[in-house]
Amino acid sequence: MSAVDFSKLNKLTAKSFNEQKALIKKVMQGRVIKCPTCQQTLMLVLPEENKKAGVFCPKGCTDIELDMN
Ligand SMILES: [Zn+2]
Repeated sequence: MSAVDFSKLNKLTAKSFNEQKALIKKVMQGRVIKCPTCQQTLMLVLPEENKKAGVFCPKGCTDIELDMN
């Protein structure tokens, strides 16, 4: 897996930034992580042409975008 650029998450507080980073890491390792809001399984979306990559829940309350090189 290539490096992940978290620079877009910089506006978050350091605490939630680290939490989101840890969460993305776990999802990328193939672990099943539930959305803290709706308790549904978070999905990892891999980058494709013209598509945003990130970690999303089915209801949209968790929506973490990321750039992968
Ligand atoms: Zn959710």
